[in-house]
Amino acid sequence: MSTKSTMMDFPLSLPHMLERIGLYFPTVQVVSRMPDKSLHRTNYLEIQQRSKKLASALTNAGIKKGDCVATLMWNHYAHLECYMGVPCTGAVLHTLNLRLSPDDIAYIVNHAEDKILIVDDVLLPLYNQIKDKVSFDKVVVVPLAGEAIPEDCVNYEDFLNTGSADFTYPDIDENDALGMCYTSGTTGRPKGVVYSHRSTVLHSMSEALDSSLAINQHDVVTPVVPMFHANAWGLPYTSVMVGAKLVLPGPHLDAESLMDLYEQEQVTLSAGVPTIWMAIKQALEAEPKRWKTAPNMRMAVGGAAIPESLFRVFDTFDMKIIQAWGMTETGPLASIGLLKNNMMDLSEDEQYQIRVKQGLPLPFVEVRIIDDDGVEQPWDGVEQGEIQIRGPWITGSYHKEGRQPDKFSADGWLRTGDVAIIDPEGFIKLTDRTKDLVKSGGEWISSVDLENAIMDHPDVIEAAVIAVAHPKWDERPLAAIVVKEGVSLSKEDIHDFIRDKFHKTWLPDAVETVTDIPKTSTGKFMKKELRKLYEGWIWE
Ligand code: AMP
Repeated sequence: MSTKSTMMDFPLSLPHMLERIGLYFPTVQVVSRMPDKSLHRTNYLEIQQRSKKLASALTNAGIKKGDCVATLMWNHYAHLECYMGVPCTGAVLHTLNLRLSPDDIAYIVNHAEDKILIVDDVLLPLYNQIKDKVSFDKVVVVPLAGEAIPEDCVNYEDFLNTGSADFTYPDIDENDALGMCYTSGTTGRPKGVVYSHRSTVLHSMSEALDSSLAINQHDVVTPVVPMFHANAWGLPYTSVMVGAKLVLPGPHLDAESLMDLYEQEQVTLSAGVPTIWMAIKQALEAEPKRWKTAPNMRMAVGGAAIPESLFRVFDTFDMKIIQAWGMTETGPLASIGLLKNNMMDLSEDEQYQIRVKQGLPLPFVEVRIIDDDGVEQPWDGVEQGEIQIRGPWITGSYHKEGRQPDKFSADGWLRTGDVAIIDPEGFIKLTDRTKDLVKSGGEWISSVDLENAIMDHPDVIEAAVIAVAHPKWDERPLAAIVVKEGVSLSKEDIHDFIRDKFHKTWLPDAVETVTDIPKTSTGKFMKKELRKLYEGWIWE
């Protein structure tokens, strides 16, 4: 027999998803919070029609396959139309991170060679800061707040009207580029990651799996993670694929606005970085009876380590945190912290210890841990190494930069820069970033473990641990903490609180109270800024 199957060669591409929402889920709502806090409501049929008009308008405007169309936008209906409409022309959706410096944004626009920009009117002041450093064929402005549209720009609604919903999709190969995101650039210049139609479809399928985020048609999904950060973790695409209602928070990401939205729209699944949930935790603790969210609401949390106390507190509010790990380079979802069947009878404490791990890789994602000498480490829950990863939605190179040896192994796996142990059950547990580990007297100390333990203290709001040069030990840990108003905590208080969890050599030699921990554009602790602050620190 021939080795060939009898199966059709049918592309895994976005036009199918866009057609599907119109056919099967036309009345499912897409709700967006506008800058003035009012709610804009539309449905998937309108989203489909308008996305096709956008695709047609872009094609009429000369956008060709492979051209980049940039967006500078919050999470709302028009951004969703760009998510669908731009790739369905064969062009590449390039979401710009509005929290980067204007200089970095301009660099990224020029590096990607973006042809058209679609920008929220409320973000025009930011556009004005990059305007002189970039050159677009056209700038299209989305009228969200009724701001005046500059003469040299086009109103998004007028632009849509230059196209037709009767749009014929071009031939799109499933391996064609669909979208691109730049990494948030915690070290060096941001790097471009280009997703394909195939990788996006497969990633969406994986998020819909029951043993993953289990996103389905009954869900009401709110990506708090911005649509400019790793495609909002793929949630808009997965929601469209399964026909789940989308509730998009616009620019209002404070705890109160989000809780109001969760209650009003009875959101069943939300997603964001831990800083968002820390703020929500404080709001809930201050007014525990104020909001009534959907029963058993799921919250995918990732992007940075999550202290165990956060899982426990949210459980008491019937809001379940699901740990998700990944990076811009990995789709982004690569692993998920769900209990296995043989873990259901474990004690509550044991289950929490598992839930704080980054979990099992999704199907078709493969991981290994490699030590400094390039030796693969056993999955014994003890030996640690850098996570290397491969799979159908893991990048195999960076845009225009190829495969540098510090980013990819010789046999083609992505080097994540995350250090982890893997236990015999296959659960990944991140211990650090390679560059954030503290090397004290030849031993590695995990800054992540320390900061998570400190953040479990009821009076600590945030804690970041960094390595600071030490004359005797090479490096020692220093903890910067943000405490609740009116509270003061000494080094001894912190030591007393975490002492039974760590060997005494791990206890931070300095605990400094700060008003704020510097954060990156995507809400992670910016440890390089902290390190600068404590450079030359004189140890007692
Ligand atoms: P980004 O590309 O901005 O999404 O950042 C990816 C990085 O965020 C990863 O390499 C990790 O260092 C960190 N990260 C993502 N998810 C988690 C998680 N669940 N726990 C700890 N760190 C995480």
